[in-house]
Amino acid sequence: KRGIHIEGLSKCYGKGDTAVYALKDVNMVVAPGEVVGLIGPSGSGKSTLLKSLGAVISPTAGRMTLGDDVIYDNGWKVKDLRALRRDKIGFVFQAPYLIPFLDVTDNVALLPMLAGIPNAESRQRALNLLTALDVQHRAKAMPSQLSGGEQQRVAIARGLVNRPPVILADEPTAPLDSERAMAVMCILNDMAKKFETAIIVVTHDEKIIPTFKRIYHIRDGVTYEEAGEGRGYD
Ligand code: ADP
Ligand code: ADP
Repeated sequence: KRGIHIEGLSKCYGKGDTAVYALKDVNMVVAPGEVVGLIGPSGSGKSTLLKSLGAVISPTAGRMTLGDDVIYDNGWKVKDLRALRRDKIGFVFQAPYLIPFLDVTDNVALLPMLAGIPNAESRQRALNLLTALDVQHRAKAMPSQLSGGEQQRVAIARGLVNRPPVILADEPTAPLDSERAMAVMCILNDMAKKFETAIIVVTHDEKIIPTFKRIYHIRDGVTYEEAGEGRGYD
């Protein structure tokens, strides 16, 4: 069983009178090769769901599998969450968090290098993605020299470079113009198809919403799926 499977996931912050259920019995399936949107107002539970998916916080109840790994099953967790996060999940955060003392290429090449891929090949993979994201001319620049949009594209390259089975993207296109936002969605869709990646994109960005075949909405910790009729992106 691959992709992302969530069944009956709940998360409660606090106890007793101050308990807040940020997620209430969430069910979600993202197949390998699929890119789904996740949309909800502030305070609806998006961050909590993304952090649960990224194995950054533990849910209170429920079951979750990513790729071949069972991450949670009512209290049961995989032993090496760090290795899981490094090898199996590609994170694309809103704030790019690039490493300031590495140039753009090495920021992207670092993860494959850490995974044991030879440096030259790691850098080649990084350059291929930087080219696909139209930021190859900044390959030798330091992160502080980049514009916000360029930093974001480098962060996207870094999230994709290890071809993880799962990618979690939080507002990946927010600082980008229409053309670049659509280019990023094309790359995510191509990656998903080519490498059977399951991708979740949290977004408010009206420009990219029509690209999703399926969207999950979240409100007060409850998710529901929008019917895919009329959606299409091929
Ligand atoms: P979103 O990302 O959609 O803004 P969050 O997942 O951050 O939503 O928050 C969902 C709900 O859980 C909100 O009511 C929020 O106040 C609450 N919440 C989030 N994190 C915590 C926390 N660490 N402790 C207590 N309550 C929290
Ligand atoms: P975002 O929507 O970007 O997550 P938030 O303001 O919702 O920003 O949350 C910022 C941080 O504060 C998150 O780590 C979240 O878990 C935490 N947080 C949110 N609401 C609460 C709360 N009611 N009590 C404690 N921590 C909270």
